[in-house]
Amino acid sequence: MDHARRKRQNVVLVGGGHAQVFVLRAFGLDPWPDTDLTLITKDIQAPYSGMLPGFVAGHYKFEDCHIDLTKLAEFAGARLIHGSATAIDRKQRQVIVTNQDPVPYDFLSIDVGITPSIGNINGAREYALVVKPVSTFAPKWQALDERFTNTDQAPTLVVVGGGAAGFELALAAKHRFDKQILRRAPDVTRKTSVTLIAGNSVLASHNKRARKLAHDALQRAGITLIEDVAVTEIQKDKVHLADGTTRPADATIVATGAAAAAWFGENGLPVTDDGFIQTHATLQLVDDDAVFAVGDCATNVDHPRPKSGVFAVRQGPPLAENLRRVAAGDPALAFTPQTDFLTLLSLGEKSAIAARGAYAAKGRWAWSWKDWIDQRFMKKFNTPQ
Ligand SMILES: Cc1cc2nc3c(=O)[nH]c(=O)nc-3n(C[C@H](O)[C@H](O)[C@H](O)COP(=O)(O)OP(=O)(O)OC[C@H]3O[C@@H](n4cnc5c(N)ncnc54)[C@H](O)[C@@H]3O)c2cc1C
Repeated sequence: MDHARRKRQNVVLVGGGHAQVFVLRAFGLDPWPDTDLTLITKDIQAPYSGMLPGFVAGHYKFEDCHIDLTKLAEFAGARLIHGSATAIDRKQRQVIVTNQDPVPYDFLSIDVGITPSIGNINGAREYALVVKPVSTFAPKWQALDERFTNTDQAPTLVVVGGGAAGFELALAAKHRFDKQILRRAPDVTRKTSVTLIAGNSVLASHNKRARKLAHDALQRAGITLIEDVAVTEIQKDKVHLADGTTRPADATIVATGAAAAAWFGENGLPVTDDGFIQTHATLQLVDDDAVFAVGDCATNVDHPRPKSGVFAVRQGPPLAENLRRVAAGDPALAFTPQTDFLTLLSLGEKSAIAARGAYAAKGRWAWSWKDWIDQRFMKKFNTPQ
């Protein structure tokens, strides 16, 4: 490729999600010739989801589990635009951003995560802490935490959602509040009451042994588990279930599924039946080689995988490589995500379940392993070199 005769290429990243931070780092370490990089992001502090349960439990501070995108963009030599993309004008090749001029691109990559899917739960928006999108979680948790700080009250909490996030958050919140109460009022015997309402069953997509370990961990922590009943309504002080019963709740945390942002489909991007952006194995849109989409907002139609941080992270290096290639005029390469992966689920205290394939085990060693992996990940982006 004759770089001397090519015009400078404008590569624009929308969203500082788990995959795009790899692009910023790669560009900072080894800038691509004749390329300008721009990041458009709604939030400056990008959370690393794997550490959020540890943040709730009190093992990590806010800055331990958030990537500072201003610093990372600075390291990359990228222009940073703090704003929300609301549309992509693919004819004019520009991104429409709230309160900003349109941002032109030659190549674009979208990694904006998901919006909450609270289904038919009345009152969830008004009365619950809705954990997704993950970028809004930490400030909401801090506000909830402050409500119970400096009181001797042992809160009654309900967590809705039996996936990994709901399971880990239930244990983390229980651990944190019990510890706080013990510190403030050692003679108080009442402990935090936590109920986990798991919809169908807790950790339904994990193997049998992991589910057994999860049940044991909840029981040991004194968390009430309700399975096979849906939540129908959330009020300020209680949660209603489909079987007609209610659970008292000083606070309710909703960690149910993910939905795609409405603007993808409205904007003419190719989307699946459930609204996620459709890409090929190269991570390029099925109808546009100039636009990539990764992380939870996208569905790779050649290799569909669950929406999870693990897969978003895995897409980071191939995304960086493919953007570098197309900016240089070379074709993007196909990427096949793995089918089987290690899951490490923290249990409030510094212990975790490790699961892979049909295998699962539990212990402090699994937490130390998870902590090592997570800290190493954060170091890559907060002190890149
Ligand atoms: C409490 C909790 C714990 C979790 N734990 C795990 C775990 O242990 N392992 C795991 O695999 N998964 C976990 N998950 C799931 C994980 O968080 C998501 O799968 C992951 O965050 C997806 O990454 P992403 O890059 O797609 O999007 P995100 O991490 O959500 O990043 C999207 C970014 O885009 C920005 N953005 C959004 N909209 C716009 C816009 N319009 N314009 C500009 N910028 C925008 C946001 O500010 C955000 O920074 C957890 C989720 C939660 C809630």
